[in-house]
Amino acid sequence: MSKHVVILGAGYAGLRALHELQKGDNELKITLVDQNDYHFEATDIHEVAAGIQTSERITYPIKDVVKSACTTFVQGTVETIDSENQLVHLKDQAAISYDYLIVALGYESESFGIPGVEEFSLKMVDIPTSEKVYQHLTEQMEAYKETKDENCLKIVVCGAGFTGIELLGSLHEGKKKLATIAGVEPEKIQLYCVEAVTRLLPMFSEKLGGYGIDHLKKWGVNFLVGKPIKEIKQDTVVYLDNQETNELNELNAKTIIWTTGVSGSHVVGDSGFAAKRGRVMVQSDLTDANHSNVYIIGDCSAVMDKESNRPYPTTAQISLKMGEHAGKNIKAQLKGEPTKEFTFKSLGSVASIGNSHAFGEVGKMEVKGYPASVIKKVIMDRSLFETGGIKEMLAKGRFDFYR
Ligand code: NAD
Repeated sequence: MSKHVVILGAGYAGLRALHELQKGDNELKITLVDQNDYHFEATDIHEVAAGIQTSERITYPIKDVVKSACTTFVQGTVETIDSENQLVHLKDQAAISYDYLIVALGYESESFGIPGVEEFSLKMVDIPTSEKVYQHLTEQMEAYKETKDENCLKIVVCGAGFTGIELLGSLHEGKKKLATIAGVEPEKIQLYCVEAVTRLLPMFSEKLGGYGIDHLKKWGVNFLVGKPIKEIKQDTVVYLDNQETNELNELNAKTIIWTTGVSGSHVVGDSGFAAKRGRVMVQSDLTDANHSNVYIIGDCSAVMDKESNRPYPTTAQISLKMGEHAGKNIKAQLKGEPTKEFTFKSLGSVASIGNSHAFGEVGKMEVKGYPASVIKKVIMDRSLFETGGIKEMLAKGRFDFYR
């Protein structure tokens, strides 16, 4: 009887694994589970939040990549995994049994227990939350017309990590459209970023990170650095202004967006896997330490980088590689062959600041400005190709290289 592989999550890692498993003539039955019936490009959601891209542009239907001869797609929400009985429990649906499981359930916003984050700030983690950010922004612009309250025109991004920086770039680009709604000049819309540490973007050299930050400053973004956020209140960010005196200060704004980092899906810890912030330190072949038929990949997974002696950071790039690797290892297990160790060499990373500026590293080379934005688009197109194939890449890819 053919073995049943269940893949949880249709993000970068899950779809790349699906692609690998659907290849060739394996005697396999595959079930893919996701709460949505679409895949979204998680690296581009800031563009939806800022209103410079529609969600249709960064999503495609999962059915487009499912080969019905071997794969069934189930739209459902995973509640827990019972790894002893090899069952996946879904909300309001029958449980699914598996022979092999790939857990690729992605990430969640991390509040670090800071009071008020859940109630008074906006998350930006998926399509609904990103659309909600843009809807909120347009509502504030409308409100300004009525009230002339300057706080309606203030936007605070909490955290200057990759996500915060890319969001600020897109918000700058989206200002014109928002200003039209409010009936003001774009310069009237004020962007702020509050960040805990003083050394921003530690993955890049100081010079390269500084290039990106300076660019945003030139565009008028106000940075408050070395100011850890202690609480979010209604329309207010409370931050530690002076580390020596413990003096707090407040920044008022009607839009507060929370981008201070992510954790892996809560389902992993809830299911009894040894997770820290939703990430499980997996074996070198990407399986769980206690279950050789359970692969944990993408943002739910932690793999040690032997060079830095720290887990690799979670990126789309490593998720795609893990998906491919897990798929190959399951094929090997089915043939009775040994699994292979996962190895990863980062190709670098590039942060966009708006549509035609970016900065980052490609291999050991630092890139910035317009050429970097072209590289960024090539990276985005490649990841679309790896999950969605040529069809989705041609339909949704970025080919506006020419100014
Ligand atoms: P992050 O952890 O990289 O950055 C979060 C930032 O928030 C940090 O600078 C941190 O110091 C700051 N912060 C944390 N708590 C704070 C507080 N209380 N007050 C103020 N600031 C605070 O998280 P991210 O930007 O969400 O990115 C998550 C992961 O996804 C990272 O691994 C990142 O590299 C990756 N990512 C990659 C890309 C890309 O490759 N283009 C894009 C987006 C995200």
